[in-house]
Amino acid sequence: MAQPAPFVTRFAPSPNGSLHLGHALSAIVAHDLARTSGGRFLLRIEDIDGPRSRPELAEEFRRDLAWLGLEWEEVPAQSTRLASYAAAAEALRARGLIYPCTCTRKEIEAAGAVEGSDGLIYPGTCKHRPPDPAKPAAWRLDSAKALAETGPLIWDDALAGPQAVDLSGNGDVVLVRKDLPASYHLAVTLDDAADGVTLVTRGADLFAASHVHCTLQALLGLNVPRWHHHGLLLDPDGQKLAKRRGSPALAERRLAGEDGHKLADALRVQHLSLGT
Ligand SMILES: [Zn+2]
Repeated sequence: MAQPAPFVTRFAPSPNGSLHLGHALSAIVAHDLARTSGGRFLLRIEDIDGPRSRPELAEEFRRDLAWLGLEWEEVPAQSTRLASYAAAAEALRARGLIYPCTCTRKEIEAAGAVEGSDGLIYPGTCKHRPPDPAKPAAWRLDSAKALAETGPLIWDDALAGPQAVDLSGNGDVVLVRKDLPASYHLAVTLDDAADGVTLVTRGADLFAASHVHCTLQALLGLNVPRWHHHGLLLDPDGQKLAKRRGSPALAERRLAGEDGHKLADALRVQHLSLGT
């Protein structure tokens, strides 16, 4: 088999809570795939969630990653990239590909929205009505119009193989939030392109988001990476590990004197057992 191209991967945590085992696994997968291909592993701090962002946590993340034995190159944090989000949103707006939505979550639920692959599928209430300018508006992707512009698209997951873009499970997702200059979908797609990421690694819980990201790459003329969605660590009940379920923070384990390199190796073994 041909050697894989040197991959550029990234780990992009948000400094609004400590890192846990699931984050460690994501970082290790990204790090190892870059290193074994002779490529680069990037760290990007996703710190645009204003009031919830705590700068001191970014420093904690760096200590955690070093403790796990990882080496990285740090690229600019999201808070330095707001102009690029605004420019992309403006370009999409000018082409009529996003529309304002003033709905609250309650209104979306009341409109009979069904659960999709990533929360409720927006029922399109605001698509055909002028928005009330007095209310704060988010901007949503007009997925039907986007699809008409892009035509059929395929994205490639290293594990699951080629995937035909299908936005039906996502619906008209938010690209510009009411309270922030970009949603996760828009920011991460632009950042990955700006950073030259060629292999997007993340947990399988974000698999469906890649349909949106591939669509945005086509609409905005961005380079299209490859994806690698890895299996998730589960707790003994088969639930995704989450901090609310009591998984200890990496920083706690580090400060308690646990051997981070050993933990990283244990996670690598566990990861193999997930078949991914
Ligand atoms: Zn709406």
